[in-house]
Amino acid sequence: MTGARSFCPTCGQGLAQSFIQTEGRERLVCPEGHILYENPNVVAGTLPQTARGIWLLRRSIEPRYGFWTFPAGYMEIGESVEEAAARETLEEIGLDVKLTGLLNVYSRAEATAVFVVYLAEAEGTATARDEALEVREFQPAEIPWDDLAFWSTRRALEDWVSLRGQC
Ligand SMILES: [Zn+2]
Repeated sequence: MTGARSFCPTCGQGLAQSFIQTEGRERLVCPEGHILYENPNVVAGTLPQTARGIWLLRRSIEPRYGFWTFPAGYMEIGESVEEAAARETLEEIGLDVKLTGLLNVYSRAEATAVFVVYLAEAEGTATARDEALEVREFQPAEIPWDDLAFWSTRRALEDWVSLRGQC
């Protein structure tokens, strides 16, 4: 979270906003001069496609408890974006997917994460794991537009619906 860190991770002293001449902007800096860089994280996800539609999950955790989205989560150091997307899909809905291509990259100025979303082939039946209240297969006409979890969910599903509409 932006602004949530108040101590330097390197030396433990207090951080304060300070203008960095060479970068032309304010950053969090400690008295030793260590700069805490706050940049967006990468969230990787998949749209697991079936013959009829797509698997979505209803979140069992905050934020956006009870709202629908696709499986996605923060990328870890030690894995590729593709590996992160597949891992999150397995963890959240129990599907071992094969990625078939990049759907798109979603970002906006005020967001703290960049979303990288892949199309995936899903065989078998998804199951709700710890972070899902339920999972359901949706056809393009059934997407629950009023109950989507995030702006990135909406944008990815809009792209998916226009893709599916063309086949
Ligand atoms: Zn420091």
